[in-house]
Amino acid sequence: DTSTNATAPTSNKAAYDGIHTVVAGGVSSNMRARGVVTPLVVESASGCRIRDVEGNELIDANMGYGPHVFGYADREVTDQIADQFGRGHLTGLPHRLDREAAGLVAELVPGVEQLRFANSGTEALMSAVRLARATSGRPLLLTFEGHYHGWSETLLRAPGAEGYRPRPGAAGMIPEAMNHTIQVPWNDAAAVERVFAEYGGELGAVLCEPVLANAGVVPPAPGFLELLRLRTREKGAVLVFDEVITGFRVARGGAQERYGVVPDLTVLSKVMGGGFPVAAFGGSREAMEPLTTYEAFHAGVYAGNHAALRAVAATLTKIRSAPDLYDDLEALGAYAEDRVREAATAAGRPVLFERVGSVLSMALLDEASAVDRAAHRALQSACQRRGVYFHPNPDEPWFLSTAHTEEDIDTIAAVLKESLAQAPAT
Ligand code: PMP
Repeated sequence: DTSTNATAPTSNKAAYDGIHTVVAGGVSSNMRARGVVTPLVVESASGCRIRDVEGNELIDANMGYGPHVFGYADREVTDQIADQFGRGHLTGLPHRLDREAAGLVAELVPGVEQLRFANSGTEALMSAVRLARATSGRPLLLTFEGHYHGWSETLLRAPGAEGYRPRPGAAGMIPEAMNHTIQVPWNDAAAVERVFAEYGGELGAVLCEPVLANAGVVPPAPGFLELLRLRTREKGAVLVFDEVITGFRVARGGAQERYGVVPDLTVLSKVMGGGFPVAAFGGSREAMEPLTTYEAFHAGVYAGNHAALRAVAATLTKIRSAPDLYDDLEALGAYAEDRVREAATAAGRPVLFERVGSVLSMALLDEASAVDRAAHRALQSACQRRGVYFHPNPDEPWFLSTAHTEEDIDTIAAVLKESLAQAPAT
């Protein structure tokens, strides 16, 4: 047993190796190990900065995969969560915070009248899809290539597909896990039309990230969300938006507000809880009916615990009382876009860049204009060593927060330019 005798590690590498001795693979989420070139072990984080175990300070453009719209350790939120721990954070009984937190979500998100709380995006998605299948009485689900909906048995897919049929995404999944799922390319209206023509009356649900943000950022093509809304309504399928990333991020009311297309069910997490583990799925009273009558099943000891709901209430109260928040995030995103594009041009390196509000993606390209993952990892490592962190996997977007200043963005761009100039050309 090495854990009890471990002395305080002095370098990121030593700390990372130490974690590996007792945490399988060194991480509790496989996503955290993807593409890591240079280990980074955190000591603390505040604002837009993380401090590592060596005492280095880095500007963070990943921000914990997106929840921290006001930056790390925002006292207006964390003080309330801390206070809730002093008041009992889990009784397994209804609390007045249930009404308050759910009421705020319902007030801000157009498609939500009622909801259920859960602990993670994965859980909420699993429940939302099951609810959709229960409501429609049809198991067949349409999803889109590259969209990530958590790691559950029914939703984790490997890249690619055999025809319309996606492949199970992990060892140990039942081989038939994807038998009731069809997958087509994102923004491919013709493919959607074909699927509805072929399977229309069999489709129980359609699920997408309304802005694809797990394969770089890919906004919906004009009219695409409208097409999904139209066809699902015609054929009696349930339209589910996975707004785990976009909710309270690309607009106060999420992508459904930004693009004006309201789904039947909405899944929320990340920004909603300011980084506390909490998620929700909700819709109209009618859409939630099977849960009102307990015909559908959803449960969890920790689901909607009082601390999680205090986090939601504190975050959404702050969002509701910040009238300029989304204009500010849009302006900051546009500023970052300009600086990053300039840096790439100055360094003479082609990058694939995309942005919706404060969600950005940047991937280094090779001569054939394909994403060069190896070069991107090398670039990420070079930037990390110069004090700027973004995820080494170019599929993972950058997230900005109100804690990032234009000066921070300038620093990111300067580091990027320098690192791009020195990154190995492929
Ligand atoms: N949906 C989307 C769009 C996500 O980005 C994520 C997580 N990155 C999930 C679902 C899964 O959420 P969780 O990791 O909380 O289970």
